[in-house]
Amino acid sequence: MATRNRQHLMVVPGDGIGREVTAQAARVLEWFTKHRGLDCEISHDDRFGAEYWHKSGEFLRPGLVEDMIKADAVLFGAVGGAGDNLHMPQDIRRKYGLPAVRKQMGVFANLRPIKPIPALASDSPLRPEITKGVDIMVVRELVGGIYFGQPRGIETLPDGQRRGVNTQVYTTSEILRIAEVAFELARKRRRKVTSVDKANVMESGQLWREEVQAFRDKNYPDIELNHMYVDNCAMQVVRDPRQFDVLLSDNIFGDILSDCASVITGSLGMLPSASIGVHEASGKRTALYEPVHGSAPDIAGQNKANPLASILSLGLALRHSLGREADGDLLDAAVADVLARKERTADIAAPGVAPISTSGMGDAVIAALGRLAG
Ligand code: NAD
Repeated sequence: MATRNRQHLMVVPGDGIGREVTAQAARVLEWFTKHRGLDCEISHDDRFGAEYWHKSGEFLRPGLVEDMIKADAVLFGAVGGAGDNLHMPQDIRRKYGLPAVRKQMGVFANLRPIKPIPALASDSPLRPEITKGVDIMVVRELVGGIYFGQPRGIETLPDGQRRGVNTQVYTTSEILRIAEVAFELARKRRRKVTSVDKANVMESGQLWREEVQAFRDKNYPDIELNHMYVDNCAMQVVRDPRQFDVLLSDNIFGDILSDCASVITGSLGMLPSASIGVHEASGKRTALYEPVHGSAPDIAGQNKANPLASILSLGLALRHSLGREADGDLLDAAVADVLARKERTADIAAPGVAPISTSGMGDAVIAALGRLAG
């Protein structure tokens, strides 16, 4: 029987390695409930994704999103199977795919921390003197912009050519609510926001820049704000990433820049993310935690995917949804400890050291938690 303080984390594994990596994150969460007094119910629902679509003809269980909204936090894996994106009808994908689910959940702010773990410094294609000390929080607008704007579609013109259209569109309120998330985070960090746009050629970017500047001048004079064109920013992220603290961007630019910044950490298998909605009057905030990577059909079912992005996403859930900052710190320390001991999956294996499996990494993190918690 749930008590009033009991929290609820829902695990939605999705497809491919999503199932394998969330299983390990769920084991880690169970460790916190057993050993750290975390009162949290864990439920699982695998009725979302391409595999479910093949089995049932539905992509998403009716009522699933409503349940995800009700949960204190959702730990999500990934969706998409080998070649399925091409075979699945476009209207099904648009209506029930991940962007639509995020929109329905209202999780407008995607947070992607980019902080290299020292033990993996040599895994990045960038030189250690460039990546050392990098600590960036990418704040990406997630439910607006060109991925959702109307008109959109592909049409055939009278002369027989085909024409594809997408529309980049933002309103003042959409810009300000994501800017507020960035400025609030900056206040708890190094008080600097870099806002990214393409204001030199796009009116939507000009609006973005003007609104963000006016909002900062009125509400956050204590935060340093600079603006950067996205093309320059992509170059600066790999040339001198230490200049950034909070990186604020729209949906498409944030998508591209955060993958670009992922090279700083060495592997896509290391990058967590949090997607959060507005605060309700009760203080609750809808939240979806997921690795940045996809379902990786090339390695799915082989117990060799790196589960750390999922486990670190759980760390973000501990901090941002479950009110367990100290447990988030403990989990980060456990992951760093495992990597320093060279217990690593194939994507980040140390030279000459045999890689461990997905479940082996779960075991290693749980063992490190036990060691560090004493
Ligand atoms: P991907 O992220 O699934 O894989 C890219 C490469 O990185 C692959 O070689 C894969 O083996 C490797 N990789 C990814 N995660 C890893 C991990 N944890 N450990 C070790 N190696 C890892 O991207 P993709 O191949 O472009 O897409 C595959 C499917 O995933 C597609 O259907 C795509 O639409 C979907 N996708 C889903 C999401 C999501 O659900 N959030 C995100 C990206 C892609």
